[in-house]
Amino acid sequence: MLEQHIQNWYDQHAQEVMDFSKRLWELAETALLEYESCRLTAAFMEKYGFRVTTYNCIDSTKPANTVVAERGSGHPVIGIIGEYDALPGLGQEAVPYPSPKEGNGHGCGHSLMAPSCGSAAIALSEAMEAAGLPGTVKFFACPAEETVEGKMHMARDGIFNGLDCCMAWHPKNVDLQVRENIQNSLCNMKVEFFGKAAHAASVPFEGRSALDACELMNVGVNYLREHVDPTTRMHYTYLAAGEKPNIVPAYAALHYFLRTKDMKYGYEVLDRVKAVAEGAALMTGTTCKITVHVMVPGCIQISSFNDFFYEAMKKVPPLTYTEEELAFAKEMFKNVHGREPEPGETYLPTGIVKPTGKHVNAPVSTDAGCVTRLTPTSRLHGWGWVTGIPGHSWATVACSGHTIGLKAAVQAGMAVAQCGFDIAKDPSVIEEWRADLDRQLAKEGDIRPIYPERIH
Ligand SMILES: [Zn+2]
Ligand SMILES: [Zn+2]
Repeated sequence: MLEQHIQNWYDQHAQEVMDFSKRLWELAETALLEYESCRLTAAFMEKYGFRVTTYNCIDSTKPANTVVAERGSGHPVIGIIGEYDALPGLGQEAVPYPSPKEGNGHGCGHSLMAPSCGSAAIALSEAMEAAGLPGTVKFFACPAEETVEGKMHMARDGIFNGLDCCMAWHPKNVDLQVRENIQNSLCNMKVEFFGKAAHAASVPFEGRSALDACELMNVGVNYLREHVDPTTRMHYTYLAAGEKPNIVPAYAALHYFLRTKDMKYGYEVLDRVKAVAEGAALMTGTTCKITVHVMVPGCIQISSFNDFFYEAMKKVPPLTYTEEELAFAKEMFKNVHGREPEPGETYLPTGIVKPTGKHVNAPVSTDAGCVTRLTPTSRLHGWGWVTGIPGHSWATVACSGHTIGLKAAVQAGMAVAQCGFDIAKDPSVIEEWRADLDRQLAKEGDIRPIYPERIH
C-alpha cells in the first residue's frame, strides 16, 4: 500500500498538481526559454517549504530557466528530476483530433513532468519528516531536454553533485515501467567550410566552393553509414549554403548529430566523420573547421535499482479514467491508427510492467544520460498518452493537456515519492547500486563527456 502521508498529500493536492500541469501546458515555452514555467515551479516548491534557487543555465543576462529546490538535511540525498520544455510549432487543443493552433505545444508531455516530479519531492519530504527519517530531497526542474543540453549545462555547473541516487518520470503511450533501454550517446557538432567566392558563370574556375565541400562531406557520410555499428544514427541539416546561385559560396556550414551506442564508440565515429570532412575540404580546395558543441553520454542502467522502483510502483493505487476520458481515448486511437481498437485491446494504458533486466540500445538520446553517470539513476516512463500514438505529435500534445495526462502526472508522482520513501527507510540499498555504477564506469575507462559552453 502507498505510504499514508504520501497518499494524504496527493488526496489534498491532486487538483493543484493538475492545475499546475495545465498552466505549463498552456505556456508551452520552448528549450532554454522556460522563464515563466521556471518562476511557477519555483513558487510551487517554495510554497511547500523547499529552499529554492533559480538561475539561467546558459546565459546569466537572461531570466532564470532552471530550478534547484531542496528540503531536509543529511543523507540519503535523494534527487528527482523534472522537465518543462515544449516543442516549436506543435500548437494543438486538448481534443482527440488534429486542431492546428498557433504557437508551440507540449508534444513530449514535459508539462506533466515538473509538476509530477516536483509534487513527488514534496510528498516524499513530508512523509520522511512525519516518519522521522533523515535525509535530503532535491528536486531539479531542468530546461531544454528537447535540444539535449539542459542537464549537460547543469552537470557542467556541478548542480547534480552530491546526490546518492536520482529518479524521474516521463509520460508515454505504454503502461508504466522503468525506462530500461540504453539511450544513445549524442555528439552535436558544427562543420564549417571556407572557400573562395567568384562569379559562378564568368570565372567559376577562380572560386572554391564551400557548398561543394558540404555536399561531398554528406555523400561521404552517407557511404560511411553502412560501415558503422547499425545502432548508429547520423543526421544533418544545412546551417549556411551560400546566398545566390551566381556566386560560388565562400562559406557553407552543416549541423550534425552523431548518435552512437556509447560515448567510447561516439568518439570513434567522430574521428571517422572528421576524416570525411577533411577529405571533402581536400577535394574542393577549401578548409574546414569542426566544432563539437556537446558530447552527451548514453544512459547507464542499474538493474537492482530498477527492480526496487518496480516494487514501489506496485504500491500505487490503480490509475482510473471516467467514461468520458475513455471515449476521448478511443476516438483519438481511431484518428491516429485508422481503426477501432480490437475487442480487449488496450487503448489507454493504466497497467504496470515488471522490468525485464534487458538493456537494449535505443536510437534516441537524452541529456539525462549525464545524470546516470553521476549517481545511480532509475527513470519511469508510461501512462498519460493513448496507446501507440507517436511522440512529438498533435496527439501527444492533446493528451498532455487533457485529464488523461494530468491524472497520470499525479499517479506517477505517487510512484516516485513511494520509491524515495522506501529508499529513505533503508538507505543501505544504495550501496549496491553505487557499486554497480562504479563497476560499469570502470569498465568503460577514461571516457569523458564534452559539456556545452555558457554564453555568459
Ligand atoms: Zn521527452
Ligand atoms: Zn521529446
